[in-house]
Amino acid sequence: MEEICDVCGLPLDEKNVSRCRLCGRKFHMKWSVDAQIQNCGQVWFDKASSGMAFACNICVAENPELSELIIDT
Ligand SMILES: [Zn+2]
Ligand SMILES: [Zn+2]
Repeated sequence: MEEICDVCGLPLDEKNVSRCRLCGRKFHMKWSVDAQIQNCGQVWFDKASSGMAFACNICVAENPELSELIIDT
């Protein structure tokens, strides 16, 4: 069964996908430079775990404080 990005509703491939730390949705995250997709989430610095975490664009929109922690990729 084909998996669907929970942010944009388009099919996911096996490689360019991440899971949101906050809501658990799967979404498009570009891992290879030549992938023809748009990122549907962001990388941010999670202070609680002192590491990088992923958040889907839905959670970024709902949690304005996240925007200060987003790491530009
Ligand atoms: Zn997507
Ligand atoms: Zn999310």
